[in-house]
Amino acid sequence: MTIDNAHEPEFDVAIVGYGPVGQALAAMLGRAGHRVAAFERFAEIYRLPRAVHLDHEIMRLLQSLGLSEVLADEMVPVDDYRWFGADGELLLHFEPRSPAPSGWEADYMFFQPELERAIDDHACTPAGVTVERGWAAEGLLQSDERVMLTLRRVTENEPGRLALTGDTRTVTARWVVGADGANSFVREASGITRRDLGFQERWLVVDAEPHDMAAFAHLPVASQHCDPVRPTTVVQSGPRHRRWEFMLLPHEQASDFEDPERVWALLEPWYRPEDGPLTRSAVYEFRSMLTDQMRSGRALLVGDAAHLTPPFLGQGLCSGLRDAANLAWKLDLVLRGLASPRLLNTLDLERQPQNEAIIRLAIELGKVLCQLDPQAAAERDTLLRQVEAPPPLELPPLSDGFLHRPVDSNSDSLAGALSVQGVVRRGGREGLFDDVIGRGFQLIVAAGDPLGALSSDQRALIDALDMSVASLDPAAPSGVHDVDHRLTAWLTEHKAHAVLVRPDFYVFGSCPSRGELPDLLDDLQTQLQLIYTTATAGALP
Ligand SMILES: Cc1cc2nc3c(=O)[nH]c(=O)nc-3n(C[C@H](O)[C@H](O)[C@H](O)COP(=O)(O)OP(=O)(O)OC[C@H]3O[C@@H](n4cnc5c(N)ncnc54)[C@H](O)[C@@H]3O)c2cc1C
Repeated sequence: MTIDNAHEPEFDVAIVGYGPVGQALAAMLGRAGHRVAAFERFAEIYRLPRAVHLDHEIMRLLQSLGLSEVLADEMVPVDDYRWFGADGELLLHFEPRSPAPSGWEADYMFFQPELERAIDDHACTPAGVTVERGWAAEGLLQSDERVMLTLRRVTENEPGRLALTGDTRTVTARWVVGADGANSFVREASGITRRDLGFQERWLVVDAEPHDMAAFAHLPVASQHCDPVRPTTVVQSGPRHRRWEFMLLPHEQASDFEDPERVWALLEPWYRPEDGPLTRSAVYEFRSMLTDQMRSGRALLVGDAAHLTPPFLGQGLCSGLRDAANLAWKLDLVLRGLASPRLLNTLDLERQPQNEAIIRLAIELGKVLCQLDPQAAAERDTLLRQVEAPPPLELPPLSDGFLHRPVDSNSDSLAGALSVQGVVRRGGREGLFDDVIGRGFQLIVAAGDPLGALSSDQRALIDALDMSVASLDPAAPSGVHDVDHRLTAWLTEHKAHAVLVRPDFYVFGSCPSRGELPDLLDDLQTQLQLIYTTATAGALP
């Protein structure tokens, strides 16, 4: 089969897989005005939750999709996280820090089908995203200008079991994104390889819907029971559900737990049949995998298609949503002709090191929690009782990619860092910065008129990128009241006069004085222009 290049592609972006990561990417690109289609093999939102935790950075991302209010009652802040030792006594008590840098609580527990429903109904539908369910992608061809996907109609005769039909069709798009999970078709079809980072354990995951959640209020929102007899995780997953995860021992088989009696026996210390139904019980293999790249020509990978993270940090989905946020603004610039496709190569430079760091951290944590040797567990417990619980997880900053490199070769300590969101007030409206001032690229200066020292070219760049601009001096043009002083404190801590934040909340760069602001903007323009002008016609950079 060959690609017909004569006609305009039907879509700007075709997304294979409409799980949470595909949904979030579709919503972001749809809201940016692009023609987006998502193809999903299942007819309904997947009923069984996997992820239960997300962090403040992801809450800011959901805020950017207009979902803060929709999800307000669905997100349970983690105000109590405890580890218990082999003797059942407290090992560590993690104190939340409120608010976290992104302006939200550090951590939240949720029920995944509700999150997916919210993104689908309240972000994708209003943005005009085309969602085609009941289609499995099975063929992918690329030319320099477009991709062609072959899709096969599938039916779900019984829950979870798909049957192929003889009905096929093709669609064309400028770009295809594989958000199609661990066994990604797009990854395979694009010849992208992946490596195993070496962690593999089987855990039984049991979800319950108690009749009376209040009866479980005495349990911490999240806890790890580091018992070498049976390492166990106990969490609340949103306002109406609870979850237990039990490590399988080496001699046990997944099939042993098909017997409900075995499952109830494990739950017995916490939850009994009279407390409410179990909504599922399944054995998962927790793995650690990373692809060698996230882009091959016009095909890109995000989420579990690109990486698998053992869930001990509750970060697998978070990493996938960071991929989506990173890719969305870059694809937007490319589709609008403001950057060449070369910009998309920075997806690898920026996301791969952070994704790998999180996987490796989760593996180390897993080794601590999955300890089955009583002697080693006792030594671990003695050691942990002597230390303070570590502060909430801070991810490594972006170390390479689309980041400011100052001309004087002094490094910019903020370039690549996750930005801070504070509460501000402007024109009688008070709230989180992104809601009051605006999303996308953001230029924040400590004092004075942000545009005062800029040339007409630099102002044109600000306009072209639809940048949100604010001075923390309320009396200055574009001034805001820094209500909780968090932005002022952040700039002061880093001796920064100005900070330029990218649409995925990571800092492009900062500068110490008003006089250097033009250089910061010039570097942004140069990096975009460089990318733009080095694009060779026809061949895909
Ligand atoms: C037990 C467990 C607990 C976890 N806990 C957490 C947690 O607390 N926090 C966290 O951040 N992460 C957690 N994770 C990880 C998290 O669940 C995943 O990272 C996340 O669900 C991945 O989302 P995704 O959209 O990339 O992939 P998926 O959710 O797998 O979605 C992929 C979609 O693509 C569709 N698809 C696949 N192939 C095709 C095809 N050929 N054509 C059309 N459609 C296709 C699938 O049907 C599916 O709907 C956990 C995982 C497990 C197993």
